[in-house]
Amino acid sequence: MTDAASHPTPAPDASEHVDVLIIGAGVSGIGSAWQLRKQMPDARFVVLEALDTFGGTWVTHRYPGIRSDSDLHTYGYSFKPWTGPPIATAAEIKAYMGEIIAEAGLDRHIRYRHRVVSADWSSAESRWAVTAERLDTGETVRFTAGFLWMCQGYYRHDEGYAPEWPGMADFRGSIVHPQTWPDDLDVTGKRVVVIGSGATAATLLPAIAGRCAHVTMLQRSPTYFRTGRNAIDLAETLRQLQVDESWIHEIVRRKILFDQDAFTRQTFEKPDKVRAELIGVIRTIMGPDYDVDTHFTPSYRPWRQRIAFVPDADLFEAIRRGEASVVTDTIDRFTPAGIRLGSGQELEADLVVTATGFHLSVMGGIPFTVDGKAVDFAETVTYRGMMFTGVPNLVWVFGYFRASWTLRTDLVADFVCRLLPHMKARGASAVVAALRPDEAKGPLAPWVDEENFNPGYLLRGMHLLPKAGPGPDWQHSQDYWTDKDAFPAIDLGDPVFVYR
Ligand SMILES: Cc1cc2nc3c(=O)[nH]c(=O)nc-3n(C[C@H](O)[C@H](O)[C@H](O)COP(=O)(O)OP(=O)(O)OC[C@H]3O[C@@H](n4cnc5c(N)ncnc54)[C@H](O)[C@@H]3O)c2cc1C
Repeated sequence: MTDAASHPTPAPDASEHVDVLIIGAGVSGIGSAWQLRKQMPDARFVVLEALDTFGGTWVTHRYPGIRSDSDLHTYGYSFKPWTGPPIATAAEIKAYMGEIIAEAGLDRHIRYRHRVVSADWSSAESRWAVTAERLDTGETVRFTAGFLWMCQGYYRHDEGYAPEWPGMADFRGSIVHPQTWPDDLDVTGKRVVVIGSGATAATLLPAIAGRCAHVTMLQRSPTYFRTGRNAIDLAETLRQLQVDESWIHEIVRRKILFDQDAFTRQTFEKPDKVRAELIGVIRTIMGPDYDVDTHFTPSYRPWRQRIAFVPDADLFEAIRRGEASVVTDTIDRFTPAGIRLGSGQELEADLVVTATGFHLSVMGGIPFTVDGKAVDFAETVTYRGMMFTGVPNLVWVFGYFRASWTLRTDLVADFVCRLLPHMKARGASAVVAALRPDEAKGPLAPWVDEENFNPGYLLRGMHLLPKAGPGPDWQHSQDYWTDKDAFPAIDLGDPVFVYR
């Protein structure tokens, strides 16, 4: 496995020029670098990463039990078979990424401890000037790049989001956010309250239940979950038949994508049926005496927020064993001993975990300019969720909410690896997405329709995100099933692409 120690950061070169500069070495950056190397072997490129290793989300999140909530056949890359159980730990995902980096020789392209602090486009030079701060030496390093490939994620890594509740300062116990989980935090024997009921809470609860005195999931309102074995029958059958792992990966991937598409469509066409089925499964697991109506019956349509997969029903089993419990209530205030709820009940706690989400961050908070003018991405319109009006030679990998993030990495990569040779062939050094004249008059919409998908971090940060425009060209469809055919068919000669 590859890690930071085995590939020291090369000496800085104050004027290094590359064809493509990728920012971020998380799943998006590594997947993009792999595709670029494979599809455009002659392209000069670097990956700049602020951390001292690759993995992004899977490195910065260190809370107990950290794991994926989607399957690794689709969260893993199309080009590298996933051979383990579908739901994977952060360590397993990192090991998988490490193999890819080593196998493809990506190490020499990645510059760790390089935090990008500015990106400035010059139309006169047709290139980006990118400044990075070296976190090991404090030096400022400069690059120029023909094309910027933004893989810096979508939330702030340094700090998670937690609301301010009255009385927090009086609380005698500790308060931690899962995003900044201290390595030496010992939960043994502690009464723990986890605020929130998203994927993080659902992961954390079973991981610490039994070790701590008791863990309570305190939620304002319930969330949908899916559960099942952490195994895929089809993959097991194909393995018994000694089918090659690369075939298994492809077949299982297609099957999962097909099923996911059918499920997603059902949530729109027959939401009540899907809702009844999801809740019915939980009812069966929890038994007739458990108050599923209060704790596991959301009021919203399924898929309006991400549905976490609970492998082997471990969350529900921890509750059934009495090691964990769910309280559905509002928070009135913190007290010295714990949390007083809207109902007047007090939850005593030694440790409160605020699994309340993250701060959305557009372009990693990096200040961008185009010809000296600051770019406000909220004022731009997105071309299919990857390019932005007025911002030349740049793509952003922003994955799917209802499917694995990484599926988008491959689609964007294939697009870029078509676009760059196309530019070369037509003698263009710059390309920018522009609304067609009839579209420019149309009303703009938020990045995501709240009716469609509305988790808290998006609602809190929607004003920061680029706008959607009229028609599919100007939206992040959030529908992999459509995009997988639409992206390869994008006509690079379409007037939405303005070349110079
Ligand atoms: C706990 C958790 C679990 C998740 N599980 C799933 C899942 O199961 N399935 C799914 O589809 N999605 C999941 N997601 C969503 C998840 O964020 C994406 O799947 C994926 O990790 C995003 O990858 P990324 O490479 O785009 O961004 P990130 O993982 O955020 O990586 C971005 C990288 O860019 C670097 N970077 C940022 N700014 C700069 C800068 N200025 N200079 C240099 N480097 C910079 C960061 O240090 C980081 O390493 C999960 C998210 C969280 C938080």
